[in-house]
Amino acid sequence: MRRVLAATAVSAVIIISGAVIAQASHVPPPTSVTSWREHDRQSAGTTLIDVVTVTPALGRAVELQERVDGRWVTRATMRLAHGYTAQLDVRLTHQWTTRPVTWWRLHVPATETAAAVTSAVKRVEVSWEASDDPASFQVLVNKERPLDPVDWAPSALLRPDVAAVGRHDQLRPVAARALERLTARAHDATGEQLVLVSGYRPYGYQHELHARYLHEHGAAEAETFSARAGHSEHQTGLAADVTQAGVPFTDFGTTSLARWVAGHAWEHGFVVRYPEGAERLTGYAAEPWHLRYVGKDLAAYLHRGGVATLEEAFGTGPAPDYAPR
Ligand SMILES: [Zn+2]
Repeated sequence: MRRVLAATAVSAVIIISGAVIAQASHVPPPTSVTSWREHDRQSAGTTLIDVVTVTPALGRAVELQERVDGRWVTRATMRLAHGYTAQLDVRLTHQWTTRPVTWWRLHVPATETAAAVTSAVKRVEVSWEASDDPASFQVLVNKERPLDPVDWAPSALLRPDVAAVGRHDQLRPVAARALERLTARAHDATGEQLVLVSGYRPYGYQHELHARYLHEHGAAEAETFSARAGHSEHQTGLAADVTQAGVPFTDFGTTSLARWVAGHAWEHGFVVRYPEGAERLTGYAAEPWHLRYVGKDLAAYLHRGGVATLEEAFGTGPAPDYAPR
């Protein structure tokens, strides 16, 4: 008890002396923010926390700000303790995972008794890691990375409330809801109707489909557009082939709706998985109709960073062909 009283007494002396200085010079005492790291480089699956010390604290607000298009945007406001000095856990908000590089600072507005301060600018670089878990939105499935186990099936599927053709009209619930929103926005923006052509396809069906394409087109051609069973994103329940109502899906790329989808799918957590000119990376010819749900943050990261493929976002290298059996 004696120690607490002593500490309070010391703080009081500092505050009183600060007030005297302020009266004499009309300048409030300076505010300091320490232990704010100026550079971070971290994986998107982790959290970024700085433990900063702010003096004087006195119950003031601390604004966590991100620079977006040249402006400082407040992402969170934290309240300091009422002591003379306060320690604060500053957790970056999720936006740090949505661009390859982001810039952050802390701003502590002035009060009647203390001056404002703005911290140094922190630069944050983020990397995304591919997952081997078929249930993860970050699962990477390509010719070099089959699903594990190879006959994996989602535990929950549902039929999105969108126009659909064919019997493979189910998706994982999160992807289904996202496709509903994308379809509604597409209709608002273009007046055109987006149609689901093929969603979840189980291992057994993919095996039949691939065998049929091999028979009809020959191996060399079929392997450029059809995945072997266990290597198809459709088996994750996160992939949706779409087209415009009345247009065969193989002609979807010629429509203005396809251009709108390519520009806006990311806003709803989808990427156009097999873009033009990326055959060597993805192993497949361009498929403007094949959307893959990856979640809004990773989709934003690809869009804003100008990253065309998941192979590049994850840094896993190209997957042009199957490993020899
Ligand atoms: Zn597809």
